[in-house]
Amino acid sequence: MKTKYYLNLLVYPALQILFLALAMYFVKTNWMLALIMVVLSAIFMSFSLHITYHHHVHFKPKSARLQRLLDFVITAILGLPFHFYQFQHLNHHTYNNEVEDVTSTYQRIGESTRPRGFFAYNFLWFLNLGNLKNHISKAIQDGYFSESDSRKMRQESWVNLIVIVGLLLIGWQYALLFGIVFYLGWSMIALQNYGQHLPTSKHQIAFSYYGDFYNSIFMNNGLHYEHHLFPGQNYWELKPTPEPDRTNKWFHLIDGIRYIFSKS
Ligand SMILES: [Zn+2]
Repeated sequence: MKTKYYLNLLVYPALQILFLALAMYFVKTNWMLALIMVVLSAIFMSFSLHITYHHHVHFKPKSARLQRLLDFVITAILGLPFHFYQFQHLNHHTYNNEVEDVTSTYQRIGESTRPRGFFAYNFLWFLNLGNLKNHISKAIQDGYFSESDSRKMRQESWVNLIVIVGLLLIGWQYALLFGIVFYLGWSMIALQNYGQHLPTSKHQIAFSYYGDFYNSIFMNNGLHYEHHLFPGQNYWELKPTPEPDRTNKWFHLIDGIRYIFSKS
């Protein structure tokens, strides 16, 4: 029974890699088709992170070697160290989208807490990486990240460098395609996070999307509020607890766009 879920976890990264490979295949003959493949790869990078790589943060295999191997594989296809994502996600669970959360959809301006700008949050996400050193030191003090995790993160950044230099050596077009998937993929990841944490006037821990079809193909990934309440449970073990106040109308990846247009 469980095997089915573990096989499902492989589907999203497999599609992410497949569409990137197709983009690289088409790049010299059909730029338009290559770009479509790039967008699909970026979309699946977001689902892979929010489902599969996320699972690896919360539930690691018992074998330390397998753990480390998966860390490196995820790092290579994510374009950033897996332990960077692990830090970011554990910080997210520690602060539940309050302003101390590095992925919070709110920000503190003077004495007040206000929503972060939609465009900056989703498309200028790289500006948020600036204070990383301080955030990591604080996370180590707080105990949800360790010196060893920090060392692993530095090792993984070498893998990211090797991937990009390797692609450049094979052909600049391949490195460019990977770069576009990287940028767009992390934008989609932010967009999905934004939908999970709509910055409404009343702070909510998280929002959930309860559509049956979506949750059946994305392994209950819509139940984000429930995940914040029970991070120790697999997504497939969570039970929906719908409440209108914290229910997304559309699925997370696009509900932020609906939310912004509904306010304007
Ligand atoms: Zn989580």
